[in-house]
Amino acid sequence: MKIIMLGAPGAGKGTQAKMIAERYGIPHVSTGDILRANIKNGTELGAKAKTYMDQGLLVPDDLVVDLVIDRFREADCQNGYILDGFPRTIPQAEALDRALQAIGESVDYAINVEVPDENIVRRMSGRRACVSCGATYHIVYNPTKVENICDVCGGELILRDDDKPETVQNRLSVYHDQTQPLIEYYNKKGILQQVDGTVDMKDVFAAICKILGE
Ligand code: ADP
Ligand code: AMP
Repeated sequence: MKIIMLGAPGAGKGTQAKMIAERYGIPHVSTGDILRANIKNGTELGAKAKTYMDQGLLVPDDLVVDLVIDRFREADCQNGYILDGFPRTIPQAEALDRALQAIGESVDYAINVEVPDENIVRRMSGRRACVSCGATYHIVYNPTKVENICDVCGGELILRDDDKPETVQNRLSVYHDQTQPLIEYYNKKGILQQVDGTVDMKDVFAAICKILGE
C-alpha cells in the first residue's frame, strides 16, 4: 500500500502518518524529518536545505527527489510506505510517478487532510517536537504527560524555528502556490481522498482507516 499525505503545513499529516504506519506496518517517510536529520548530522545536504527551511521556502526539487527515491529502495519499503511532506510540487509528483512507473507500480491513495488557514497558525505555534526522536506534540491538543519532556524517549521538546509565526505565514503562501495544485493532480488520477482535519485526531484517524478499507 502506497499512500501520500497531502495538506497544509500543520494540518496533521505527520500525526496521522505515524498512526497509519503503526496500524498497517509500513514505514512513515517524512522528507521534513529526513532533512532535519541531515541538518542535525551536519551533512552537506543539511546545510543546503537549512537556508531554505529557515525561511519557510521549499528545498529545491533536485535535492529532495533523489532522497525519496533512494529511500523507496530500502528493504522496509517493499510492502509500501506513507509519504508525508512529499511530493510538494507538481515536478516532484511527476518525478515520483516516473520512478514508480519504471518499476510497474503506482500510488494507491492520496489523502488530503483539510484544515483552514486560521486553524493552522494555532496548530503550528503550539506544536512541539522532540529534539532526540522527532515525536510531535501540541501544548493544548496533544500535550506530553510531563511538561516539555517527550513521552516516548524523555528528550527535550522545542518549538521548531520554522513554526515561529513570521515563518508560518510564508509556509502557508508557499503551500497555496506550489503544493495545493497537487490536490487537482491526484483528483484527475482518481486516487484523491478528502478528510476533515479539524476534528479530534482520533476521529481523523478513524476516517482514514475507513478509506483504507479497514
Ligand atoms: P503536519 O505534519 O501536517 O505539518 P503535524 O502532524 O505535525 O502536522 O500537526 C501539527 C500540530 O497540530 C501538532 O502540534 C499536532 O500535535 C497538532 N494536531 C495534529 N492533528 C490535530 C487535530 N486533529 N486536532 C488538533 N491538533 C492536531
Ligand atoms: P515538514 O516537516 O514537512 O513541515 O517540512 C519542513 C520543511 O522542509 C519545509 O518547509 C521545506 O522547507 C522542507 N521540505 C520538506 N519536504 C519537502 C519537499 N518535498 N520539497 C521541498 N522542501 C521540503
